[in-house]
Amino acid sequence: MNIILLGPPGAGKGTQAKVLVDKYGVVQLSTGDMLRAAVASGSELGKEAKAVMDAGKLMPDNIMVEIISARIAEPDCANGFILDGFPRTTAQADALDKMLEEKGLPLDQVIEIAVNDAVLIDRINSRVAETPEAERRDDDNAETLKRRLDVYHEQTAPILPYYDSRGMLKKVDGMQAIDEVSIQIEAIISAG
Ligand code: AMP
Repeated sequence: MNIILLGPPGAGKGTQAKVLVDKYGVVQLSTGDMLRAAVASGSELGKEAKAVMDAGKLMPDNIMVEIISARIAEPDCANGFILDGFPRTTAQADALDKMLEEKGLPLDQVIEIAVNDAVLIDRINSRVAETPEAERRDDDNAETLKRRLDVYHEQTAPILPYYDSRGMLKKVDGMQAIDEVSIQIEAIISAG
């Protein structure tokens, strides 16, 4: 079972991916987590990623495609994977299609977790108020979120019609409680 979770930053893709990992024994492929691991390792990739992430921008498509292509070829992905944070541009979506075709892997579901910008900005302001600074992600502040939302609307949202035109896109309301969102995602998966 191979699934893409789409939606703006802060919509809960990571949270829902973890629920699916526990329930279905698939792996979560979070490109954001991979880049944060590179930052923590101090590698050249990590240095580039830190600057890009802190600015709320996107890493170059070719780098991200290479990372995901190598990752989905690993044995633990054979049981299925949840893509969380990839694809983020139509070029990445095109490359993913080709990659899946070459590897003979199906794409089973593309699920959009939809949340309004105003709700995301409210959520981040509450998080900033509640979380000690040392525990917050460097890109987790209202200013960066606004830039990330602009990037989302300009570069990532155009992916939605790309999958919708192929009859592949399912949408859930991400403004409900976390458990409710999980129930709806599971209903989509069960319906095939
Ligand atoms: P995330 O944890 O998915 O919110 O990602 C954090 C940051 O990593 C993003 O704001 C981007 O700077 C970068 N990033 C993650 N995934 C991608 C991707 N597929 N393409 C380009 N940049 C990405």
